[in-house]
Amino acid sequence: MIELKGKPVADSVYSEIIEELQKWSSLNWSLPHLVVVLVGNDPASEVYVSHKEKACHRLNFKSTMVRLSANTSEMELQSVLQKLNHDESVDAVLLQLPLPSHLDAKAMTEYISPWKDADGLTQASLGALMAGQQKVTSCTPSGIIKILDFYKIELAKKKVVVVGRSLIVGLPLFHLLTQRNATVTLSHSKTENIQDHISQADISFIAIGKANFFKVTDFKKNSVVVDVGIHRIDNLLYGDVNPTHADKHLAALTPVPGGVGPMTIAMLMKNTLTLALTKRKCQS
Ligand code: NAP
Repeated sequence: MIELKGKPVADSVYSEIIEELQKWSSLNWSLPHLVVVLVGNDPASEVYVSHKEKACHRLNFKSTMVRLSANTSEMELQSVLQKLNHDESVDAVLLQLPLPSHLDAKAMTEYISPWKDADGLTQASLGALMAGQQKVTSCTPSGIIKILDFYKIELAKKKVVVVGRSLIVGLPLFHLLTQRNATVTLSHSKTENIQDHISQADISFIAIGKANFFKVTDFKKNSVVVDVGIHRIDNLLYGDVNPTHADKHLAALTPVPGGVGPMTIAMLMKNTLTLALTKRKCQS
């Protein structure tokens, strides 16, 4: 079985970014600037945000962290995001999710300008994805496609199943896989007999947010499984798929940790570069 590790794929994305930035110095362009807005102090978000800052540091991007208290109102957050939209020095804005429960994540995301939408989650970015015209796509799904490309896993003509239909993972993944000519079934918590679907799929993408929910024998023998789930339990990380006996049953599996996770940050950096490049080209 092939372990579809994310680190070498993420490193290849970082190398592409560094190569592109080398051209920028001769053009006298300023380095990309990502702003992450964190509302409250969710411990998992604190960890993700620190990884994002480290990645910016590694690439020499300018990184700014805007920390807002957990009781920030909708009006206050709207005002912060709109100021960032108008700030010429800012290329990309990421609103760290989840938000405290009194804030509606979809409504708040809409206050980010599509030109600065680092995670491709505004309605304009999602609509562009549906039309096959996306500039940036949500980081986790686009990172998954990079993993499959890196390990030369063909998608065209394959029967694939996505389990989970969130705006951040499942739905964008559905569109990216369709663009690659896979035949895609999108399933969710109301789908009956999910096993019937995944037991026939060449490739299954699991993003349901439930630790060790599926066992490897639920999937077709010698199929490929991409496990997007990530759960910290007693300081250990688990996916949505229990990997026990994966080597005997599957052709390939993304490990947790070390599979999809590293790609999410790498694609955030790539999206930031793309948005910054579009802006520099418009200005020059
Ligand atoms: P989410 O917003 O909670 O969505 C979960 C989806 O799974 C929903 O569409 C839900 O269906 C579906 N679902 C829940 N239980 C199910 C079941 N028993 N059978 C079939 N479908 C079921 O979660 P998310 O944000 O997409 O994240 C999913 C997982 O990926 C989480 O573990 C998250 O931590 C992880 N994640 C990892 C990364 C990374 O970088 N590695 C990035 C993002 C997310 P309904 O729509 O019907 O409710």
